[in-house]
Amino acid sequence: MTGRKAELAENLARVEERIAAACAAAGRKREDVTLIVVTKTYPASDVRLLHELGVRDVAENRDQDAAPKAAACADLDLRWHFVGQLQTNKVRSVTSYADVVQSVDRPKLVTALSAAAERGGRELGCLIQVALDAGSGERGERGGVAPDGIEELAAAVDAAPRLRLDGLMTVAPLAGPYAGRQRAAFDRLMDLSTVLRATRPAANMVSAGMSADLEDAVAAGATHVRIGTAVLGVRPRLG
Ligand SMILES: *Cc1c(COP(=O)(O)O)cnc(C)c1O
Repeated sequence: MTGRKAELAENLARVEERIAAACAAAGRKREDVTLIVVTKTYPASDVRLLHELGVRDVAENRDQDAAPKAAACADLDLRWHFVGQLQTNKVRSVTSYADVVQSVDRPKLVTALSAAAERGGRELGCLIQVALDAGSGERGERGGVAPDGIEELAAAVDAAPRLRLDGLMTVAPLAGPYAGRQRAAFDRLMDLSTVLRATRPAANMVSAGMSADLEDAVAAGATHVRIGTAVLGVRPRLG
């Protein structure tokens, strides 16, 4: 193994141990939680090594970085998740490689994603990003729709050709009533997921938890955790 591959393997093993321990503590099965590795700011060569180490789900948050990386790894069986704030002028590009867009947060984006997916002849999974720091009708600091906007967006995705509603996503808020209370934030997301699943049982993905708070997310019931730093190292620049 190269030095980098050994380093990634060691980091992955440590994250795997944390997820397994969190599942055991919560009485959940390990296979009910999927690890998504957030490869933003790291090169395609790292994505390739991660694939060799068994990773199949990767995430990116900027189209400019993600598009060339996905192209360089097009020969690999990877699921690409887009987790960043998404401008409609980037939708066509994102739709060409992403399997799931986790940051759906406004009706205009739903329309654009659906049109692009139709044009590309692809089906696209969608998670509604929930902002737990936003007031009614507002968007959060880091994107996302306030909880009272979920139903409108879910209905829009339901009605949109080529889009599939897969569930909900959140980023633990830095401000507002949930600041510093990750577990409470993730519990709230689970409650919102329960409401959503009452009418849409297939929309059962709950994407929550990052390197610092994956235990809280698994305890709350997350089905997908998004881990960057703990696998790849501290990012060289903001991303
Ligand atoms: C960067 C990022 C992550 C991963 O964060 P780490 O703290 O590096 O694990 C997860 N989710 C989103 C939306 C991100 O942008």
